[in-house]
Amino acid sequence: MIMEIKRLIVGELATNCYLLISAKEMAVIDPGGNAEDILREIKGAGVKYIILTHHHFDHILAVPEIREQTKAKILIHRTGKDRLDFKTDLLGEEVKIGEVVLKVIHTPGHTKDSVCLLGPDFIFTGDTLFKDGYGRTDLATGSPAEMEASLQKLRDIIKPGMMVYPGHGEFYAHQG
Ligand SMILES: [Zn+2]
Repeated sequence: MIMEIKRLIVGELATNCYLLISAKEMAVIDPGGNAEDILREIKGAGVKYIILTHHHFDHILAVPEIREQTKAKILIHRTGKDRLDFKTDLLGEEVKIGEVVLKVIHTPGHTKDSVCLLGPDFIFTGDTLFKDGYGRTDLATGSPAEMEASLQKLRDIIKPGMMVYPGHGEFYAHQG
């Protein structure tokens, strides 16, 4: 499978924005700022989706501009939809970009609408799981109990060697 994942670090909270490219299709995950940098990296490629791992501002600030320039569909978990002031579509069970299928895994805890996106040998974890910890649970719609359940779910899913792409900080291969 020919696929590429690029990372841009954007915005004041150094959010990881990822571009996933496969078979001439692209998804932009968490465009949290620096719209011009992201658009420069996109270079007129066909952006099919803007995917949000959750609704927090540091993951969405560049959405309107990217959406305007690319006409991409914006996808978020249904529980996050009403927290945004732009129109979105809802994430289903999976998202297909070119030859890549991302399975949507609902992982509430940091926020009610947090999701992870599981590919064949990698996963985007948003603010649920980081290299050295996990996301805050003390913000609105956060829940320590739900976070615990979500992390347990991820422990069963993330296999040794799988690449983990979090919403902040370094991406890494899971050591198992
Ligand atoms: Zn967040």
